[in-house]
Amino acid sequence: AARAGIVVTGTEVLTGRVADRNGPWVVEQLRELGVDVAHIAVVGDRSADMTAALGFFASEGMDLIVTSGGLGPTADDLTAEVVGAFQGRPMVLDEVLQERIAEILRPMVARWKGLDMDALEAGTRKQAVIPEGATILDPVGTAPGLLVTPADEAAGPTVLVLPGPPRELQPMWAAAVQTEAFAAATAGRTSYDQQMLRLYGIPESEIAETLRRAEAGGIDLDTLEITTCMRGGEIEIVTRYEPPATATYEALVALVRERHADTLYSDDGSSVDVQVADLLRARGWHIATAESCTGGLIAARLTNLAGSSDYVTGGLVVYANEAKTALAGVPPELIEAHGAVSPEVAHALALGAVRALGADIGIGVTGIAGPGGGTEEKPVGTVCCAVATREGGVAASRRLVIPGARTDVRDRATVAGLHLIRS
Ligand code: ATP
Ligand code: MG
Repeated sequence: AARAGIVVTGTEVLTGRVADRNGPWVVEQLRELGVDVAHIAVVGDRSADMTAALGFFASEGMDLIVTSGGLGPTADDLTAEVVGAFQGRPMVLDEVLQERIAEILRPMVARWKGLDMDALEAGTRKQAVIPEGATILDPVGTAPGLLVTPADEAAGPTVLVLPGPPRELQPMWAAAVQTEAFAAATAGRTSYDQQMLRLYGIPESEIAETLRRAEAGGIDLDTLEITTCMRGGEIEIVTRYEPPATATYEALVALVRERHADTLYSDDGSSVDVQVADLLRARGWHIATAESCTGGLIAARLTNLAGSSDYVTGGLVVYANEAKTALAGVPPELIEAHGAVSPEVAHALALGAVRALGADIGIGVTGIAGPGGGTEEKPVGTVCCAVATREGGVAASRRLVIPGARTDVRDRATVAGLHLIRS
């Protein structure tokens, strides 16, 4: 099987000032192509550290190393040089590339008055100095991508050098996989199928038990690569397998379906967000929200998909009790009698959203996100949500106690709200 390692460069990524969006993205692309990835190394902008990371992957026998970042015109952009040295290739000025970069910069030069032309010239020149014999990928921004094979024939990994900005790296990836150098480096790849099941409302231990039973029932799990992950109260089971194991996977799905019929909500990987959107569209309904503890997070999720104006009317963020009354029409006596965090108030919020915004269906959420404000009867993490229709009946209602910190409570309350709409 073909194996790859990834080197994400940049002191801003190392220190967390910029969250790494390239490493995991490249891992996904490689996995889809059937190339295994075991590690992502994140290194600062220091050539010795980059060389060490390349050396580690070479010593692990990788076929391909993908780097991100450090291709710019500034002195801290070192990647091309480091990779050239690592592969034993001298750096040479590629005049065709230099002209190409100059051509890309021309419109920018025209726009920015008073640009230091000498500095620009030096930058262009630096970016056109590449390891001899490298395959060049046309710049998306100003930096070219590179595929660099080892100078001496003794097999070592091919290095694919990509720019740091994700909006440059991602389009360049498509060009990179088309090259001969990429095909040669990943010749040993195997084709896999990958499937995702999603469940909501059961603990991970239940899945572990199901997998034990699968094994005991003669389903050979060794032919499947199964990863279960708990996120926001949802469980994702990702399974990757070579095509001959398809029947084994199907046997596993049948068992999951049998044991978790009420909690398995997606067998094609579709998210609850997409399912809610599909449902509202199919019914021709428009939804409105009235949110307290989630502060608009449900409305944000509902409007996250393109085209959501087809089914979203709008949302109210009603944090204070006065706002619940003023905007969502929740009677003060109801809050007085049951408390702001109660199924009654959740329902009144849902109905208030429908009426205030003229929607067909509404969701109301109220809860104690913490860390303060809990009582014995209503501990921190208590969340009530309700869905109401225009007619005013409670379509669905749920009270749950979510463990964890404030962000966990808010995130899981949001997910709970979306699932309540789906049901
Ligand atoms: P440029 O020509 O833009 O300088 P570059 O290849 O030198 O390209 P970097 O200098 O490493 O790229 O990064 C430029 C910017 O791109 C970073 O400041 C950051 O905002 C973004 N970026 C870089 N690497 C990543 C990453 N791994 N994840 C997300 N964003 C990144
Ligand atoms: Mg840089």
